[in-house]
Amino acid sequence: MAQCQFTTTYWDYESNKEVPFKCLEEPLELGLFCFFHDKTYLEDRLPNLREEHAKKVIDGLTHKVNESITDKKALHCIGYHLPDTSIQGIFNKPLYFSAEYLVNIIPNASDVHAIVKDKRVQEKDNTAYIKLHVIRADNYKSMPNFMKDNIGKVITIVVSKDDLDFFKKDQVNLLVSVSGDERHQFYTARIKPK
Ligand SMILES: [Zn+2]
Repeated sequence: MAQCQFTTTYWDYESNKEVPFKCLEEPLELGLFCFFHDKTYLEDRLPNLREEHAKKVIDGLTHKVNESITDKKALHCIGYHLPDTSIQGIFNKPLYFSAEYLVNIIPNASDVHAIVKDKRVQEKDNTAYIKLHVIRADNYKSMPNFMKDNIGKVITIVVSKDDLDFFKKDQVNLLVSVSGDERHQFYTARIKPK
C-alpha cells in the first residue's frame, strides 16, 4: 500500500530524545501526501469542496484523538494542516502538534503547587504570562506526571487576563498541562475545579 511521503524528526517527550516521524496514512489519490499533510487540501477553489475537505480532516482528527485517549498512546499530528478546531479530552500521553494551527487542547494535567514569581500582561491579546516556580507536582487523577521533571524549576504559563486575580496570591495550586510539537513545548493551566 502506498504511504504518505511526509517525514520529519521531533522531540519525543517520553524518551527525551529526537526521533524520526514518518506518516503512515494513505496518500490522496492524486498526490504524495495524505489529507492531513497535503498543503492544498483545505484550500480548494470550490467552497463546497473546501467544506467537505475540512469536515474530512476534522473527522480524521477526532478519530485519532479518541484512539489516543482509549489506547493511551501519544497523538502525533506533526506537520498536519488543520482547519480551526478544538479537541478536548483527558490524555494520558503527550500530544504533538504544529504550533501554527489554532487547536485548543485540554490534555492530561498535573496538580501543581507553585510560587508566583512574575506576571506580565499582554494587553493586545488579553493574556498574561505568569512565571511559576514549581514546588510540587502530583498526578492529577492518577495520570502520568509530565510535570515531575519541572519540580524546582520555573515554568511560564499563559492565562487569560480575566484569571489574573487568581495569581495575586504568593502561592497557587492549579492544574498544569503540557503539550508540544516538534519545536515547542507549551504549558497551559486551569484553575482546579472544586
Ligand atoms: Zn501524512
